This record gives sequence, C-alpha cells and structure tokens, in this order.
Amino acid sequence: MQTASHQQQYDVIISGAGPVGLFLAGELALYGCAVLILEKTIPQDNPLKKIPFGIRGLSSLSIEALHRRGLLEELQLHKRMKQPHSVPKNGPAPQRQSGHFAGIPLLHSNIDTAQLKFRLPSSNEPALMSEMQELETVFSGRAAALGVTVLYDHPVTDFRQTTDSVTVWSGEESFHAKWLVGCDGSRSIVRKAAGFEFAGTEPEFTGYNAQVELTGAENLRPGRVITPQGLYFQSQPGYLMMQDFDGGAFHASKTPLTAARFQEVLRRISGCDITVTAMHNGTLWTDRARQATAYRKGRILLAGDAAHIHSPLGGQGLNLGLGDVMNLGWKLAATIHNTAPEGLLDTYFSERFPVGEQVLDWSRAQVAVMHPNPHARALYAVLRDLINTPDGATYMASRIWGVSTHYDLGGHHPMTGYNVPNFEFEDGTTIGEIMRDGRGILLDFSNNDQLKSIATEYAAQLKYVAATPKISLGVMALLVRPDGIVAWATDSQADTGELQAAANRWFVRS
Ligand SMILES: Cc1cc2nc3c(=O)[nH]c(=O)nc-3n(C[C@H](O)[C@H](O)[C@H](O)COP(=O)(O)OP(=O)(O)OC[C@H]3O[C@@H](n4cnc5c(N)ncnc54)[C@H](O)[C@@H]3O)c2cc1C
Repeated sequence: MQTASHQQQYDVIISGAGPVGLFLAGELALYGCAVLILEKTIPQDNPLKKIPFGIRGLSSLSIEALHRRGLLEELQLHKRMKQPHSVPKNGPAPQRQSGHFAGIPLLHSNIDTAQLKFRLPSSNEPALMSEMQELETVFSGRAAALGVTVLYDHPVTDFRQTTDSVTVWSGEESFHAKWLVGCDGSRSIVRKAAGFEFAGTEPEFTGYNAQVELTGAENLRPGRVITPQGLYFQSQPGYLMMQDFDGGAFHASKTPLTAARFQEVLRRISGCDITVTAMHNGTLWTDRARQATAYRKGRILLAGDAAHIHSPLGGQGLNLGLGDVMNLGWKLAATIHNTAPEGLLDTYFSERFPVGEQVLDWSRAQVAVMHPNPHARALYAVLRDLINTPDGATYMASRIWGVSTHYDLGGHHPMTGYNVPNFEFEDGTTIGEIMRDGRGILLDFSNNDQLKSIATEYAAQLKYVAATPKISLGVMALLVRPDGIVAWATDSQADTGELQAAANRWFVRS
C-alpha cells in the first residue's frame, strides 16, 4: 500500500466519476477551479452502461443545459436511435411515445406543446435517448480538456474537515482541498461518513433487470404488462425488466440473483410457461425513495444520487443530478473565488431540495399506480383515460420533460425562476450558444444604454447582449443566471432599481 500525502491543494475534490461527478468537474473547471476526482472503480467495458441496460432518457432541462455548454452536439446515440425498444413486426406502426407514467404510454400526438411554458421553435427536443457510457465519455472528455485530474481505483475512504479545508483519504493516500463534493451515488460514503440524514420511504417491490436466454418467450406480451402478480417488460428479445411487489424483500435478502430465481419470478408474474436457460448481467433494484435533509455540512456537499434516490421509473434520477450540477457549479466556483454574494451557496439547497422532493413523489405516485392490487388497477384505468386527453397528456409531458420545474425567486414576471427559453436571434445564433463561457447574461431586446451600463458593473460574471430575437414572447429584457435560470424579466421599459436588486442577488460588482 502506497503511503503519501499529496501536497497540491485543490479547490474541490469530487468523490465519484459517474455522470454527475464528471459533469460537475467540468462546470467547476470552466470557472477556473482546480478539481480532482477520486473514483472507486477502474475504467472498463461495462455492459450495464451501454444500450439497452445503460439507456438514459434526457429531458428538456438537461438537454438545454448541455446545449448551453456545447455538449449536446457531441451526443450521437439519439441521432441513430429514435426507438430503443423493439416493436412488433405485425400490426400497425406504434404511435410515437414521449415517455410514460406508471407504464401508461404518453402519446406524442396527445400533447399540446403550445400550452407548455415558454417553448419556442428554436427550443431543443424536449426528450432524447442517451446512455451512461456515452454521457460519461463526453463529460470526461470535457473535464480532461479543462484540466481536471481523475484518479481511478481511488475510493474515498475517509475525510476530515476544518473551517477552511478538507483532507480526503483514499486508503493510505491523502489529498487536500477547500471543498469535498459527494457524487458517489446511492451508497455514498461521503453522505454516510459526514452524517447526513437520509430520510424517506422503504420499497414496495424488488426490480429485476437481466439479459436472458429463454424458451417460451413467444408467450410474453409486448409493452409494459401489469398482471395480478406484478409487472414485466421485454424491451428487446431477451432483455427483461420485472417488478415483484415483495416489499423489497428479495433485494434486502442479499441472495445472489440466479437464472432459476429469475425464471421463478418471471413465471409467476407472467403466468407463462417459460424456461430461462441462461442469464447474463442480472441486476436488482428497488423503489426505495430517500433524500438527504441537507445538501451541505460545512465544506462537504452532496449532488446526484448521493443526495437523493428513488426508483428509475420514468427515468428522472440522472436529470435531477445534472440539474443539481448546473445549480451548484457556478455558485461553488463563485464562493471559492470570493465573488459570491452573501448566502449564494445556501440557495443550492433551498432551490434543489424542493425539486428533488417533487421527483421522489412523482416516482412514489407511479409505484402506487403500478401495484397489482385491485384498487391500484382501478386507479390505473382512470389515469390511463386522463393521460389520453390533450390536457392530461400535456400536464404529464410538462412534468416528465421537466419544463414545469421552477425556483421560487420572487419577482413579478411569469418567466422568473424558469429555464430561459432558447431564444434565437436574427443572425441565427441562440442564447444557448452564447452562454458557453458560463457567464450570466443581461439580454436586451430594446437596445437600452441604461441596461448596458448596469451589466458593465458586473462584467466579470455578467455579459450584456443586445439582440433582436426572431420571437420575443413579448419580453423586452431578461437577466439570466449562469445556470440558465431567469432571475428577472420585463415586458416593458425596465425598472432599473428592480434589475439592480436582482443583479446584486446573484452577482458581485467587478
Ligand atoms: C435501470 C435504470 C434506469 C435508469 N434510467 C434513467 C433515465 O432514463 N433517466 C434518468 O434521468 N435517470 C435514470 N436512471 C437513474 C440514473 O442512472 C442515476 O440517477 C445516475 O446514474 C446518477 O448519477 P451519479 O453520478 O449521481 O451516480 P452514479 O452513476 O451511481 O455514479 C457514482 C460514481 O461514484 C463512484 N463511487 C462510489 N463510491 C465511491 C467512493 N467511495 N469513492 C469514489 N468513488 C465512488 C461509483 O463507482 C460511480 O462511478 C436509471 C437508473 C437505473 C438503475
């Protein structure tokens, strides 16, 4: 065992090089922070990170965020793969699906996109498919290009914080930083060792994912099938997901998953006489839903699955984690550089905790509706009818795509606290493209010199852009934070006092 105390003082050490840790490292490095990632595993080919098991649906806020950092263009998978799941060879072509709630398909044709908040023709797709492998490759490429150091095979094993620094141990090696961020997933050592409370609910089911070789598979029905015993879903021949409502008992038992066990559960849930001749890549999961009751203790922070866990139903966990990063990155960097207004870092928790709470409840609601008992089946039928109405589908889409996500920032304008629409200007550029340097923007559609002079006071953190949008949505000026959230907006002559107050809340004078 190597014994070493590394002398370099980093600004931030991140525990975990999953998608959230890597994306956060890139954000911090964009703002000039020195970042070290310590990752427990060794990079290797992992089928669970590739399609179909590694498929991850990205939703609107993540997609716009990636666009704002020039990373969306690097994702290729969604260009090749519009429909990740196999479709029946016979019968009519299936309608385009835009997600699901509790297994009830959300049909794109039912969604009235005109009702969705602040969408523009220049907005990016509201949902697309990626995979863990692709995201980690893109994020680690960006982090490396920005000078982030990643040490694989270096699990964080312990740490100590003082009032102005943190020492982090990986076995006998120690590293030093001003801050430590736990992005080390659902079993986060950072969360546990720092003593964060992780409050929530216990599981209703054990979930099974596996690639299997089967005989009798022709008897399985297509789509997500709920039976009186549970749920099964064959996404592609031989790739099966099941939910067995055993209160999470099998997962908790720590019994290894075997082909015989998989067959037993599949036969019981499907009612089909199926034989599993071989099983590859079998994994277990549950709908345990828990959230840290604080995201910060002194110099220790949490983000991603380290801060919140819930069932993967409806695919929201990664999007929630990427949202944490967009919110935390610029605030932590400003705190490190002593350019943060009073209390800026505290708003990471006050803004992100309620969003996490909503996602956990969204996943609990789905579990309640998917239960095989008669009451849940009755509720499922009612919801299925509602989702098949334009208003029902539009409501579901606004939640699943994340476009209804809002921070309570006060202010009068209805756009305040929402993700800025991807305005396109007369020269064809979009606001996403001009935000790549990570600065906030004072966007002026009225060419007002007073606004320009206010923005100049905060020039290191805020960029003044006078432009003519193709569609203005009636807005004359907006203050946009580095994470793309509208901090202030006006439809008429700007009240400069209000603007100055909003600017002072998020930025400091240069
Ligand atoms: C089957 C399934 C389908 C899903 N589908 C979707 C979807 O469609 N959309 C969506 O948004 N989300 C989805 N999710 C959820 C999503 O995968 C997670 O929310 C996301 O991976 C969390 O990222 P993370 O970086 O926070 O954690 P992780 O991906 O868990 O990464 C944590 C990293 O920390 C490392 N680590 C752990 N302990 C230590 C330590 N002590 N020291 C150093 N490193 C450590 C791990 O090795 C790992 O690399 C799905 C999840 C599952 C299981």
